[in-house]
Amino acid sequence: MKLSEAGLGTMRVNKLDEMYPAQDMLLQSGQLVQYGTGIFGYGNTTMLVKRNVQIIIEECLNEAGCIEIQLPTLQPDTIWKKSGRWDTYVNDGTMLVVKSDRGELCLAPTAEEACIEFMAEKLKSYKHMPATVYQIGEKYRNEIRTRGYLLRGRSFLMMDAYSFDTDLKGLETSYAKIRDAYIKIGEKLGIELLPVIADNGAMGGKKSEEFMFVSPIGEDTILYDEDRKIALNTEVLEKENYEEYLKEEYGIEDISNLKTAKAIEVGHIFQLGTKYSDSMNIGFIDKDNTQKPYYMGCYGIGVSRLVAAIYENSVIKDSNGNVTGISLPKQIAPYMIQIIPKLDNEEKVKEANELYNQFAGKAILDDRENMSMGAKIKDCKILGTPYMVILGDKVEDGKAEVENTKTGEKEILEISQIKEKLLG
Ligand code: ATP
Ligand code: MG
Repeated sequence: MKLSEAGLGTMRVNKLDEMYPAQDMLLQSGQLVQYGTGIFGYGNTTMLVKRNVQIIIEECLNEAGCIEIQLPTLQPDTIWKKSGRWDTYVNDGTMLVVKSDRGELCLAPTAEEACIEFMAEKLKSYKHMPATVYQIGEKYRNEIRTRGYLLRGRSFLMMDAYSFDTDLKGLETSYAKIRDAYIKIGEKLGIELLPVIADNGAMGGKKSEEFMFVSPIGEDTILYDEDRKIALNTEVLEKENYEEYLKEEYGIEDISNLKTAKAIEVGHIFQLGTKYSDSMNIGFIDKDNTQKPYYMGCYGIGVSRLVAAIYENSVIKDSNGNVTGISLPKQIAPYMIQIIPKLDNEEKVKEANELYNQFAGKAILDDRENMSMGAKIKDCKILGTPYMVILGDKVEDGKAEVENTKTGEKEILEISQIKEKLLG
């Protein structure tokens, strides 16, 4: 991206939100645009970060043998009335209902019903299972209290997966497969996603775990002990018979002396069992020629929430602790370097363009006229680019100063070696 063609002025940011400085910076610099409560448009950088997160999720799920599909986001009331969830979601105010001359529809808050409609056509026999499908699509929930910009929106991107098995043992295998895939997703993103025991109440069913990103801005509180490998959401303790639940489903008897931490719920996995197959009266023909219900699991990841969590975790601070910018992790940064040449030096401009071309779409070139180098350096940190490459008068031709925006470390490198050094 050449900044002279990106429709950007100098990105001035004023006093930042104390709780969510990174996202406030994105809004003030126009990388996010708020249209209404919990509704956002994405600029080029934020949209590409979201896409990169999405690609990592897709790679890990594909590797685990899941199949990607796409379900409609505009859904007729009929499928929700079949499962009995239309009234629940309409009455609690979550559902965004669309009235049309051909009946009522909704903007999908989740997609169990639509997925069952899609799969029941295909999974008629035990021979057609196991099967796990997933999609990454926009979801809509009329949240009463939106919070933390992208962390809790009314329109947000979610990965939702659904597994279909012939029995409980199969469901447990599918669940374990997705659980492993979630841990790999965290590893590839360079963050720890901690599985914690969750309340299984919301969706009905047996086992349920949430994947938590430990952070002081999290809404949830978890209890954990690394050594004993125990972690649970405090919500579980509000459950009737929670002791029985912990013992039967997870083999945990002693939850004394656990530490507490705040965390962001990034993902949630559920063993649904036959809840939906029973309420929607669907299933398959088993080996013994009788009709049986599917054993289902459902699995979600809040993609846009994850993007928000990663941004908030990537702020750069000055020595007084004030937030001065963002430095995105290399795994998901859409642009690896931001090149800032001294524009009135022809040789530097030539070198900058050559370097820009070498990075083939993975670089930003700040070629804006009539702007100071200082203002451009500030803007680089607002855009979150991991490395800043300065081609100024101070450094001899053929070399450049490369700054790691996260650590502030600077080194002088041969321009011809920068690509090899940073992209490996
Ligand atoms: P929460 O408890 O935070 O309201 P939930 O338990 O209702 O979330 P799920 O139905 O489990 O959410 O959805 C799967 C994932 O989608 C969540 O783990 C979360 O990461 C994400 N998510 C849910 N609601 C929102 C929202 N309003 N904005 C952004 N992401 C969301
Ligand atoms: Mg949840």
